[in-house]
Amino acid sequence: MRKAIIAGNWKMNKTAAEAKELVTALLPKVKNAKCDVVVCVPFTDIALVAELCRGSNIKVGAQNIAWADNGAFTGEISAAMLKEAGAEYVIIGHSERRQYFGETDKSVNARLKQALINGLKPIVCVGEKLEDREGGNTEKVCKTQVVGAFETVSADDAAKTVIAYEPVWAIGTGKTATDEQANETIGYIRSVVKELYGAKIADAMRIQYGGSMNAKNVDSLMAQPEVDGGLIGGASLKADDFAYIVNAAK
Ligand code: PEP
Repeated sequence: MRKAIIAGNWKMNKTAAEAKELVTALLPKVKNAKCDVVVCVPFTDIALVAELCRGSNIKVGAQNIAWADNGAFTGEISAAMLKEAGAEYVIIGHSERRQYFGETDKSVNARLKQALINGLKPIVCVGEKLEDREGGNTEKVCKTQVVGAFETVSADDAAKTVIAYEPVWAIGTGKTATDEQANETIGYIRSVVKELYGAKIADAMRIQYGGSMNAKNVDSLMAQPEVDGGLIGGASLKADDFAYIVNAAK
């Protein structure tokens, strides 16, 4: 049995004052959650949110990590900085990073290794664009991204990683993959992990769905056998909405 994991991706939203308000409202609403709960917040909110969540069931994550330990990498953030601030998780290779900031499978791989070396728990995002799905290339694209992300990553390290399957056409669009599409593509991604690392690791790996998951569709998505949780953007910005999703994930 895989334990579900629901992670909020706040993206570039919430100042520290707003983060405090959201997390303070969220804490009591999710305290009896049956799944792992993570909020991936802007860098400037990590220390505050980690402090507010100390001793609770909410874990804190970041949305990016540099591949280097330190040095001349303007605008990047190191593993040591994230850990000292209180992050346990980190999203890597989100489609917005790929689309707007030049993230590639190679840089995703380098960032993933850096997270793993430093004991941060990675959430690696993969997913096809609309033209890939319409062209029948969903599996090809997802396979290339998974194989690229995990290149030379050991089996032990792969086992510590969460994958988020996020069809790009469903992110922030209000358009969700159908339950069948989510289940089928996550099942395919699991088969790629199996090819790379064997059945034991593939069967234990948690693979989330992400893309306009909300209070209305969470039940049927989570009822799919391959769907092990969600990476939630828009709906993670309101305490009631995110709490509903968390409490629906068993
Ligand atoms: C995301 O940012 O990973 C995401 C899935 O966003 P949304 O839920 O808003 O589609």
